[in-house]
Amino acid sequence: LFNELPSVTDQALKTFTPLAENVYTLKNLGDSGQEEFMSCDCKPYYPDSTGINHACGEDSDCINRLTSIECLMDSPDHPNNCGKACSNQRMQRCQYAPVDVIQTAQKGFGLRALQDIQANTFVYEYIGEIINQDRFVKRTQAYQQQGVKHFYFMMLQKNEFIDATQKGCLARFCNHSCNPNSYVDKWIVGSKLRMGIFAKRTVLKGEEITFDYNVDRYGADAQKCYCGEPNCIGYLGGKTQTDSVNKLPQMIIDALGLTESDEKLFIKKKISVIKEYQSLQATQQSISGSQQQQLSQETLDKIYDDLLPIKEIHEDTVSRTMGSLIQCKDAWLVRKLVKRIFITDDTSIHLKVIRMHGYEIFSKLLRNWSQPESLNKDVIVMILRILKKWPKMTRNKISSSKIEDIIKSFTEDGDVELHTIKDVYTLAQGLIEDWSNLQMAYRIPRRERTLAQSLLLEDPNNNSIEDSENRNTAGPKLPSGWKRMTSEDNRVYYCHIETNQNQWDFPTAFSGKKANNKNPRYDEKNGYKNKNSSDNFSNNNEDISIKTASQQQTDLQKIIEEANLQVQLKAQLATLALEKSQKEEQERRKKIKLDILRQKERERTLSSVSNLSSTEQAYTKLFARYVPNFIKKYESQLSHDLVKRHAKDIVKVLAAKEMKLHNVKSSSKKVPKSFDEKKLLKIKHFSREYMEKVMKHYGNKQAK
Ligand SMILES: [Zn+2]
Ligand SMILES: [Zn+2]
Ligand SMILES: [Zn+2]
Repeated sequence: LFNELPSVTDQALKTFTPLAENVYTLKNLGDSGQEEFMSCDCKPYYPDSTGINHACGEDSDCINRLTSIECLMDSPDHPNNCGKACSNQRMQRCQYAPVDVIQTAQKGFGLRALQDIQANTFVYEYIGEIINQDRFVKRTQAYQQQGVKHFYFMMLQKNEFIDATQKGCLARFCNHSCNPNSYVDKWIVGSKLRMGIFAKRTVLKGEEITFDYNVDRYGADAQKCYCGEPNCIGYLGGKTQTDSVNKLPQMIIDALGLTESDEKLFIKKKISVIKEYQSLQATQQSISGSQQQQLSQETLDKIYDDLLPIKEIHEDTVSRTMGSLIQCKDAWLVRKLVKRIFITDDTSIHLKVIRMHGYEIFSKLLRNWSQPESLNKDVIVMILRILKKWPKMTRNKISSSKIEDIIKSFTEDGDVELHTIKDVYTLAQGLIEDWSNLQMAYRIPRRERTLAQSLLLEDPNNNSIEDSENRNTAGPKLPSGWKRMTSEDNRVYYCHIETNQNQWDFPTAFSGKKANNKNPRYDEKNGYKNKNSSDNFSNNNEDISIKTASQQQTDLQKIIEEANLQVQLKAQLATLALEKSQKEEQERRKKIKLDILRQKERERTLSSVSNLSSTEQAYTKLFARYVPNFIKKYESQLSHDLVKRHAKDIVKVLAAKEMKLHNVKSSSKKVPKSFDEKKLLKIKHFSREYMEKVMKHYGNKQAK
């Protein structure tokens, strides 16, 4: 720990031009490719009286936070579900951890934590000038010629770099370590990608903040590493450092959900592939006489593409996968990521993908990868097949993601003529047809609820709250065999465990007319099905029976009504749960307040007791100075020890008497340092009298 080192922040600030935010040397640099504002499903959350909106916090299931997107500041253009100033705007609000700059022994300036920083806390944004590859190369050469000692480049995304050498912020002083306490991570803030430093573990007050340069930072030549960690690889820097240490970038590990053994296997294979490649190159050189060349990015990409495995996604890797998909610009990695979703069968995982901005992200991918210069047919076909598999319930997300327009364009004559590819044309046509039957689900404002609906909702039998902590499971008790699920637009639907039947309706007849829901009908061809088949959704489109347009219309109307009722029921229950939790919170606070008051009372009593005893002690000491002398003469008749014991008793009695007087007169009266003559005589008299009584007592005893 470096608590004792002086702060040299002022001195350090003079070595560069401080920036409050990134400077873009070209307008389009640092683009996240995200034009539409993505809003999360969170609600404003004020659990305490601090006035801080805790929505979208570290432990929330905020889809923005989970996919490394900051919620934008609330504005009329994009009103936030999560309210004003939620907890997921850390870069926008410059919520930096308390740090300063120190002079390290061998590494120049370093960044120091001024307080303990918890794991995953945002530490600082890596701010600088955003430059492209050309400028990066030119600047590297220029800095070398100028004799600039320290380079502060960091890769932002493919062919784009943050240069904090001339202009930047304190984050530039964050040094490398082979065993770092922090890491860098990219976040989407509006239309731009931004880089932040985050705590990897708890960073103690006085600790130097470090991250691993070999992952993302680009220096000039390899330099000696002074981190002093046992696993130190000895050097850092160099343009191909990721390659030279054979480590996989963290971004790829996260995106593909790779384990340590996956990485080891990859490195092993990669080394042999590179050897093969180099021997091939050597043969070519001996023929053409050209010079030995470094591996190009294209070759590296191909190696990654060929050697890295594609795994199914799981419940807890959905958000990482979707977050990577938003940020990823490499064709091979996008293909791998989409394939991960494609090979995943679990419907509940797909519902989570949909919830994690699924339609928005796919809409963006279809747009980007259908451009003539970046055509990626595999990605397009896979996405269309996934969309085909997704349950089709409402139009909401399809409409807000604008995915329909781009898919329609695949069926028309375009630049790339995707419609001439048979798969693409058929799939696109099918989706447009499927979606054309869907309708928007509206949320009816609470005040528009009818009396009947209100009565229904307030039926105490329907309002038992099972678990007020989990919004998704809150609701009336379900009949056995049924479980609650959450749909793409975060609404509750019900699934029968055995028959896999899905429906919007609550599976009991809460108004009497839906009694048949309890008994899913078995159908020879289609298996278990609800009588009202349009209440179901199914992964298999062929299952949906053909109906007349008007019948379908009525059914849809019914679905929407039922769905809206469910939404209201859920809202009502959520309100009840909130009221309940607020009441509980109030009770809890009251109790805490009472406890504090009681504790204070106890402390006050205790302290007054100790005051008393300290005064009493002082008197005891004072009396003890005189009493033994006054009764010393009795030692000739009694033993020394016995007289001593009686002296103690006399002192105790005198002190107690004095305390009584003391308390009656004034509690603030001080204990005198000594007694005057008159007082001493009184004490002598009392002591002698006491001892005479004692002697009389002994005399009586002896006489007997
Ligand atoms: Zn949120
Ligand atoms: Zn938010
Ligand atoms: Zn090291």
